[in-house]
Amino acid sequence: MPTETFEFQVEARQLLQLMIHSVYSNKDVFLRELISNASDALDKLRLAVLRDESLDADASDLHIELEADQEARTLTVRDNGIGMSYDEVTRLIGTIANSGTAAFLQELKEAKDTAGADGLIGQFGVGFYSSFMVADEVTLVTRRAGERQGTRWTSRGEGTYTLETVDDAPQGTAVTLHLKPADPENQLHDYTAPWTIREIVKRYSDFITWPVRLLPAGTATSDAADEETAAGEPETLNSMKALWARSRDEVSDDEYHELYKHISHDWRDPLETIRLQAEGTFEYQALLFVPSHAPHDLFTQGYRHGLQLYVKRVFIMDDCAELLPSYLRFVKGVVDAQDLSLNVSREILQQDRHIRMMQRRLTKKVLSTVKDMMNTDQERYRAFWREFGAVLKEGLVTDPDNRDALLAVSSFASTRDAEEPTTLAQYAERMPESQTDIYYMTGDSRQAIENSPHMEAFRAKGIEVLLLTDPVDEVWAETVGEYEGRKLRSLAKGDIDLGTESTDGEEGKDSGKDGQNEEYAGLLGWMTERLGEEVKEVRLSSRLTVSPACVVSDTDDMTPALEAMYRAMGQ
Ligand code: ADP
Ligand code: MG
Repeated sequence: MPTETFEFQVEARQLLQLMIHSVYSNKDVFLRELISNASDALDKLRLAVLRDESLDADASDLHIELEADQEARTLTVRDNGIGMSYDEVTRLIGTIANSGTAAFLQELKEAKDTAGADGLIGQFGVGFYSSFMVADEVTLVTRRAGERQGTRWTSRGEGTYTLETVDDAPQGTAVTLHLKPADPENQLHDYTAPWTIREIVKRYSDFITWPVRLLPAGTATSDAADEETAAGEPETLNSMKALWARSRDEVSDDEYHELYKHISHDWRDPLETIRLQAEGTFEYQALLFVPSHAPHDLFTQGYRHGLQLYVKRVFIMDDCAELLPSYLRFVKGVVDAQDLSLNVSREILQQDRHIRMMQRRLTKKVLSTVKDMMNTDQERYRAFWREFGAVLKEGLVTDPDNRDALLAVSSFASTRDAEEPTTLAQYAERMPESQTDIYYMTGDSRQAIENSPHMEAFRAKGIEVLLLTDPVDEVWAETVGEYEGRKLRSLAKGDIDLGTESTDGEEGKDSGKDGQNEEYAGLLGWMTERLGEEVKEVRLSSRLTVSPACVVSDTDDMTPALEAMYRAMGQ
């Protein structure tokens, strides 16, 4: 097949432009991304060989190899993993499958500072493309395990790439970067220097479970008399220690953070690291992370979640959703079980008793971590709740066993303070003796709720109201129904008689509703007739002080917010 030239998809082209013009300040991380891809490819190969004995692949010495050529100014990252077919190269390298990318690019344009841009890029895992931060040309040669023919992909990152088939490609993938001239002032280092490579690998990829080997420099550079590279043996740069198997005081926060970045494809540090070592009959280790920001697609249907599952240090699968309930789908991490079969499949996982036990234990651990955060570091807890409160509240509906634990860490906006949210416990604590119920109002925004006529009487009487603006709020409030013997009551539902709640006994009460009903019978009858099918009933209410009328739903009706929630959950 002759060399063919293709155009990048529009989104890919835009991302590449960003890389070439380097919106991301720390350029060293390109190496982390390439090693991360190589490591994934080795995991996949080992698994493929395990599952299919007839696969014609060599899995005897799986490793990652780095080769630098100071004269030619190239750096090659090579793996003997699963590789890619011709079609896979086009699909995986030439396009960006992520549908959120267009929105992301728009946001990125609006983020003026680099800190903002760095963060945004992190959400979209531009992985392989980050090579173009440090290289003006990139060549990738790959052969899929079990296939005969290889593929060579080349691009300068400027709109087009070329593809050709090659006959003599080794199994796996080699990515060769033709490096830009070093420019230390702009954090562009000399990536052919062994000590630079060594340092970057140590910093970002130490825990990678495959050996990362640096090949000695070629003879062409011999007159440089570099002692470090004079030896003829490849040098293994990483320690390959599984972080979850090491004790807490042996591992630095930075090391945990790098593992998080490797498994989550996020470029930012996590908000929280959670360790769990379960001993006894069913032994496992878990290392979980709460990200610092919610991913943009957390509420979309295809959102891929779950933890990485290892069995005795061997990677088994990504996105193992069975290990955590759906309302903790933002949690990332690794679980390494001692006593599962290496051949464990998703079908088996769904029914496995041990997996269910693990799920229960991990859930409790995450919730207790949030509680600790709440008790010891309000600011962190606030940040957590801002990002993940909306999804955590789904658990109030779907996980009755942990409802109390969830309620304890939930907080809500309230009329009491424009900035400070409140827990139900705090609300209850403040309730005057005359008040028996907890009041809430749902709506699209705080402002929309505050402008609602339903709020008038409560404002006039100084009764605190929770302002709930997430789609799930309506549902959990209905489902949960009460908190420590106090009813949760929606202002928009049913008849709320505020007479008994008031402390300054007003005279309106004395004349009684019955008397008023008689007095206004004509008006009510006329309105009922005019509104016809639109309403169930027209009645007098004590809930308004300024507005003449408002619409309320019956206690059991489905409200618009509820409908929106079910839509969001894809039902
Ligand atoms: P991500 O790793 O987040 O999926 P990347 O841009 O880093 O995104 O890589 C895109 C895809 O290209 C990978 O998901 C993988 O399928 C494929 N790929 C990249 N590098 C390799 C490699 N060394 N071996 C096999 N496949 C690779
Ligand atoms: Mg990647």
